[in-house]
Amino acid sequence: MAKKALADLSASDVAGKRVLVRADFNVPLDDSGNITDDTRIRAALPTIQDLTSKGAKVILASHFGRPKGKVVDSMRLTPVAKRLSEKLSKDVVKCDDCIGDDVASKVAAMSDGDVLLLENVRFYDGETSNDPEFAKQLAANADLYVNDAFGTAHRAHASTAGVTEYLSPAVAGSLIEKELKFLQETVDNPQRPLAAIVGGSKVSSKIGVIETLLDKVDKIFIGGGMIFTFYKARGINVGASLVEEDKLDLAKKLEAKAKDKGVEFLLPTDVVVADKFAADANTQTVGVDSIPDGWMGLDIGPDSIKTFQAALADCKSVIWNGPMGVFEMEAFAKGTNGIATTLAGLTGTGCTTIIGGGDSVAAVEQAGLADKMSHISTGGGASLELLEGKTLPGIAALDDA
Ligand code: ADP
Ligand code: MG
Repeated sequence: MAKKALADLSASDVAGKRVLVRADFNVPLDDSGNITDDTRIRAALPTIQDLTSKGAKVILASHFGRPKGKVVDSMRLTPVAKRLSEKLSKDVVKCDDCIGDDVASKVAAMSDGDVLLLENVRFYDGETSNDPEFAKQLAANADLYVNDAFGTAHRAHASTAGVTEYLSPAVAGSLIEKELKFLQETVDNPQRPLAAIVGGSKVSSKIGVIETLLDKVDKIFIGGGMIFTFYKARGINVGASLVEEDKLDLAKKLEAKAKDKGVEFLLPTDVVVADKFAADANTQTVGVDSIPDGWMGLDIGPDSIKTFQAALADCKSVIWNGPMGVFEMEAFAKGTNGIATTLAGLTGTGCTTIIGGGDSVAAVEQAGLADKMSHISTGGGASLELLEGKTLPGIAALDDA
């Protein structure tokens, strides 16, 4: 079901109104409390600027870390307020609480176009337990609600779901709208051929995605540690590679399903093997049917990269979740980088390229190719659940279009 978005509201719907905006400001900090990556803050700017330009009073809420329902000083949002203020070129008033009298009086003092940041909502247990009373108190200072926290949309918390019981309209911000456009619309109504590239360490964490995508895609490419479970299921010796023994039947079933659906199913033909799981291990490249005993596969090989590249060449949409190898170590990053380079090239020819998953996004960023993709998802777990076809509570709770 399509959801109402900020873009559906007119300037008069929001002018002079107090708008509670749930954003995801869960940014990484270094030991001195400095923000090391402000991607999430920048991602929230379009929604905030849209609202301030229309004369709304913007009240921002976010979680930060896992304070477990208690006030933890190192998890205050004070550094975020400072960075936001720089990015917006305007003062951002920071509250030391997210509910209560002080918040109410600061909100009452706001002028149209002002921005205020509430304190970490996870200082209260009621946030993660989605306590209706806490949700009501959060909602008490606002007239309407915008959810733009895609990274937490798969959680039914007070600030992502509960508040929608008390605020109307409740709509999607521009970031969530963009995530849905790419992750949902591309899968449901793609330019074809549509390909999925699935990797990562374990097949068990990607069963749902592979299963769901097999109903939608024309081709599926498997990489990462999970390939060895597929090989072993075929009776191939995988040496000391990662194998999930209890998923061998499942691997067979998934391959059979692909065949059944007429989906082209591609496994790597060669792998880079190592004599230990370490950056300085001895390595060699071997065909998948000649992995030496005691050696473990940590990346896909050069022939596989070429085969994958050739099979991707005619694709009009590609969704990628999960690295091809242990990309954190340079010796095993070539497969992942090769696929990233291929996708960057495809984007340039009009193919829609979508990267979802925390480690996959990190890999593409590490390769310096993030701005060459059509869409880099800001939500790891949320993007995975969306690709699995699950309903995200934070989106389900919004008004229907
Ligand atoms: P994402 O976060 O993009 O969804 P995952 O969390 O599923 O990705 O998987 C990422 C992890 O998979 C990385 O830490 C990477 O080192 C690991 N990995 C990839 N290939 C292998 C392999 N052959 N053996 C062991 N681990 C692997
Ligand atoms: Mg991960």
